[in-house]
Amino acid sequence: MKIIVEAQVALDLERYVAQNPLEFSGFGFCRREGDDLVMYDFAYLAGGSYGWTQIEPEKILALTKREDAGNARIWVHRHPLGNGKPGPHNWSSTDENTIQTAPLGGMPELIGWSASMVRTPKGWVGRIDNHLTKQTIHVEVVNELFTIINRIAAMAFGRGYAAGSYETASDDEDDWSPFDAVLEDDIEEVEDCIDEEDC
Ligand SMILES: [Zn+2]
Repeated sequence: MKIIVEAQVALDLERYVAQNPLEFSGFGFCRREGDDLVMYDFAYLAGGSYGWTQIEPEKILALTKREDAGNARIWVHRHPLGNGKPGPHNWSSTDENTIQTAPLGGMPELIGWSASMVRTPKGWVGRIDNHLTKQTIHVEVVNELFTIINRIAAMAFGRGYAAGSYETASDDEDDWSPFDAVLEDDIEEVEDCIDEEDC
């Protein structure tokens, strides 16, 4: 079970990430494909603070008028917490409270289930909540663009690490990233390069 993000939507999301240094929030539209959710559209609702009360009601009203309004099942936001590895540590207590008491801005019993996605400093993670059984499943958020962005970030980090101007990579297992292998390879590459003094 995972959340797959279509290519154009992934591009839009990362554009909002670039434009909003702190936080933003919106709804993702998705369809089910087997066990997975495929997000095919994203509606940006608010930058900065992401409480539902901060979102202009007209914007939510506009979404409810869409033919596929029922597919607006994913709450999407960005925040500075977490490490991109699926799990409860990526979600703040405010997030937990929002998801459990007002999922998608509605009543848990009526919504039934919802998904959430958050952009942590180390990439996207997701969760799917059943509001009737109170169960949460933490899932990966998948798109090729996200992989590329993390690879570029890892390479930049590798150069900084080699030059001694950034903090070194953590050995803490909790600080896991799906791209650790890439990061380590890149650091080695840069270190080899420096040893040879010819690049
Ligand atoms: Zn949050």
